[in-house]
Amino acid sequence: MSNDSNRRRFMQLTAGGLVVSAALTSPDTTCAGSGSVTASVNPITGDVLRTSGQLSSDAKSMIESERPIPVVGTSDILICGAGPAGIAAALSAARAGASVQLIEVAGCLGGVWTVGLLTKILDAGNKQGIMKELLRKFTEHGSQVAMDSQGTVYDPEVAKLVLEEVCVEAGMKIRLHTRLVGAVLNKQKQLVAVLTESKSGREAWLAERFIDCSGDGDLAAHAGCEFEVGTGSDCTCQPMSMLALLTGLDPELVRPWIRETGSVAKKRLLELMEIHGINPSYRAPTLRHLHSNIFSLMTNHEYGVSAFDANAITAATLRARKEIHEIVDGLRSIGGPWKDLAVVATAEQIGVREGRRVRGRYTVTASDLAHGLNHPQGVCRATFPIDVHALNSAGNKEINRDFKTSGMKPYDIPYLALVAADVDGLLMAGRCISGDFIAHSSYRVTGNAVPMGEAAGLAAALSIKQRVMPHELEWKKSNS
Ligand SMILES: Cc1cc2nc3c(=O)[nH]c(=O)nc-3n(C[C@H](O)[C@H](O)[C@H](O)COP(=O)(O)OP(=O)(O)OC[C@H]3O[C@@H](n4cnc5c(N)ncnc54)[C@H](O)[C@@H]3O)c2cc1C
Repeated sequence: MSNDSNRRRFMQLTAGGLVVSAALTSPDTTCAGSGSVTASVNPITGDVLRTSGQLSSDAKSMIESERPIPVVGTSDILICGAGPAGIAAALSAARAGASVQLIEVAGCLGGVWTVGLLTKILDAGNKQGIMKELLRKFTEHGSQVAMDSQGTVYDPEVAKLVLEEVCVEAGMKIRLHTRLVGAVLNKQKQLVAVLTESKSGREAWLAERFIDCSGDGDLAAHAGCEFEVGTGSDCTCQPMSMLALLTGLDPELVRPWIRETGSVAKKRLLELMEIHGINPSYRAPTLRHLHSNIFSLMTNHEYGVSAFDANAITAATLRARKEIHEIVDGLRSIGGPWKDLAVVATAEQIGVREGRRVRGRYTVTASDLAHGLNHPQGVCRATFPIDVHALNSAGNKEINRDFKTSGMKPYDIPYLALVAADVDGLLMAGRCISGDFIAHSSYRVTGNAVPMGEAAGLAAALSIKQRVMPHELEWKKSNS
């Protein structure tokens, strides 16, 4: 069935979004009340909706005055974050016939795949559906390297284009350059609206179902969900890492140091660096060949940086970029095959391994991994090992073995780990689902984020069609 006819059928079933409108205009809805006040500006003229406020007497806070916020979008399903999870959620929801609004703060789709310059998709081999489709497209549009790796080693620029093509074709609405900054519940604790900020100012968006694919769990936190961060009382998280694209190397001459030749390549690269007085903050430097003479490099760790502290992230970003350039300068000075090495680009967004793990109606635990959980409502089977990077520079090993003791067998991620426990109408997908610190270190990779997103998008659409809340939906393994 075409996407258009799918959507027509869906709209008939949901009375064209009337369910949303009814929820929002009911008298006990906390976000109702600004009446008919107009709150819009003409985007051509550059006008802004001005704010006003009052500084507290100690000048430590500002009380902003009430002001109307324009409602700029109404959709069946709104997805926050267009990383691997968000793309898959949006595609599956749109293909199930729902109207979909995708909101992303960066200037392209793909999250860590593109803005983060990742270049490698892990734990994708056993996945079907959208993951398989995207790998095929990355291969078709990619290089010989992409072909040899069945699309799992990809060029981020190819990924940007492929993702834009598939998302546009699926008929969803995409809003880039827009950050979600607030969420509004009704009195039944159902999420009914979100607020964003962008060059268009502060805006409100209504939907029947919401999916948090922000990686960091921003939407769930704004909605008032409980969550966990990192491990221990100080919420220690895995380090952040900035990635870079490089050029100036002949792939044949640097073959021994290329990751795809085996994990020993990382050891060799570290040895080469150390012999020449280079001490990377990440002790398993990873060089990948992408195509022609373009490579990617991960050689940086930033320890103890909170994903929710813009000052700390800024400092880590500046440190990381400086370190990458210093390391590349150092490698170039070795000469030989490295003599023309140069940085093409560093990632605009430093890679964040850990944000909030939002409390769901099921929590994936280390014990589930140890026993190889087989769950009747599994959305995907994760096979990636426990992978906790060093948590501080003192424990700077390739892999932190302290956390490996509980063991891991391939396990199912149950549907209810994708459903928020504290708020109705909200699902999560990707690294912000409900799990403990150890389980997260395994399921966080993008070969799992995609099928989680695919399941969340379909579940959101099905729950509207069946007029049930996502936690009431009977998810079957065969949906996955
Ligand atoms: C350095 C590093 C190396 C890694 N290596 C690998 C690897 O080799 N292979 C692999 O498969 N996985 C790897 N991972 C893990 C994996 O990349 C992540 O866990 C994965 O990105 C999860 O996907 P996601 O869609 O949940 O999150 P993300 O990719 O982080 O996507 C979240 C999206 O939401 C957007 N967003 C966030 N907040 C807001 C907001 N408030 N409003 C609007 N938009 C918002 C972001 O801009 C982003 O586009 C690595 C991670 C890091 C950090």
